[in-house]
Amino acid sequence: MQEVLVLGAGYAGLKAVRSLQKHSGDFHITLVDRNKYHYEATELHEVAAGSHSKDKIIFPVADVISDKVTFIQDEVVQVIPEKNSVVLKSDRTLTYDIVVVSLGFRSETFGIKGALENALQMVDIDTAEHIHHHIVNMMAKYRETKDKNYLRILICGAGFTGVELAGAFADERKRYAELAGVSENDIEIVCVEAAKRILPMFDDKLAQYGVDLIKKRGITLMLGSMIKEIKPGEVVYVTSQEDAAPLQSISAETIVWTTGVSGSAVMTESGFNERRGRVVVNADLRDPNHDNVYIIGDVSAFMDSQTNRPFPTTAQIATRMGAHVATNIVHQLKGEALEDFTYKALGTVASIGNTNALGLVGKAKVKGYPASFVKKNIVNKSLVEMGGLKELLAKGRFDLYH
Ligand code: NAD
Repeated sequence: MQEVLVLGAGYAGLKAVRSLQKHSGDFHITLVDRNKYHYEATELHEVAAGSHSKDKIIFPVADVISDKVTFIQDEVVQVIPEKNSVVLKSDRTLTYDIVVVSLGFRSETFGIKGALENALQMVDIDTAEHIHHHIVNMMAKYRETKDKNYLRILICGAGFTGVELAGAFADERKRYAELAGVSENDIEIVCVEAAKRILPMFDDKLAQYGVDLIKKRGITLMLGSMIKEIKPGEVVYVTSQEDAAPLQSISAETIVWTTGVSGSAVMTESGFNERRGRVVVNADLRDPNHDNVYIIGDVSAFMDSQTNRPFPTTAQIATRMGAHVATNIVHQLKGEALEDFTYKALGTVASIGNTNALGLVGKAKVKGYPASFVKKNIVNKSLVEMGGLKELLAKGRFDLYH
């Protein structure tokens, strides 16, 4: 019997398993993940802000895999393609005939001093929950000290993650204010962003709409501010590209780092030909150097022939890749030719709080409350793809605005 090993139960890996387990054939699947649950990484900002408990965005992997699959809860340390083996943190070694590497993202610091030590990360359920607990503590500290730095929540980077997080914080402002015993306006939410213009995937008009929406929610956008260092309770930045540009700083007791992501460190550990943890894959989603290694999701870079750049890493492309590798693995096990992956993004919608959003669906622009409805439906559709209707029902997510 052939052994198919899938590393990571995120959007890409879990979709691969769910698609593969539907096929009959002389193969067995093993799935490894450090957690017993799958989480909706696109919704971490809601847990970080405390709008939802983690239970709303996680479900047990065991709920959605069949008897064909063995699940191992462990952490992948290294893939050794030359030996068709994978080393786990428990020191156990697994071997495979075919491996799917779908180990997801980590926070990218670009080597900026203090970013890991002095800023909060938002990369998984634990770190998202930690941000919320931290904010609750800071509000309590304000009550003791009356130091306004405890009321300032600072987000580094105003990419999609940063603006969605800022919107979620703005939604929770009233609750934070009550905890601190201040008025809502005293809770400051600030985004520090290097670029002068945010939301680069949207045209000028839609991006400006986004900026106006962010400002209307009382979020301060510091554009053109390149972060150079994070000190404890302090973000150091420059507002000019010149070498001699004076260093400026802003202090805050909550600093969250969202300046971009790279692929899992395991890609470097394993000696793959990677850049920022991502491997440029063949059209069939395999590693160019190994015929039995598929690399998908955030650890993979799939080139867009129209722009000659890799597609951005999103849950949408990861899920499509997961389904595609299942098809190709079945072909490969039968000795058939593989199919090339093709991808066309269905659209991009970013939320700014619970009832506002903006984005593109196909070529159509969506804005405001209707866009938030579109966004929630995209997220629910994704949950059905990953967990089935059962999970959607279990989470009570038909009631979109609760
Ligand atoms: P990103 O790379 O899209 O944005 C990071 C932002 O941080 C950029 O605006 C960048 O200019 C800024 N930045 C980087 N270094 C900086 C510095 N030193 N100082 C100040 N600012 C700095 O990263 P992301 O927002 O984490 O998103 C990662 C991926 O996930 C993207 O492909 C994104 O599109 C996707 N995503 C999609 C959604 C959605 O579809 N709703 C939501 C979240 C993330």
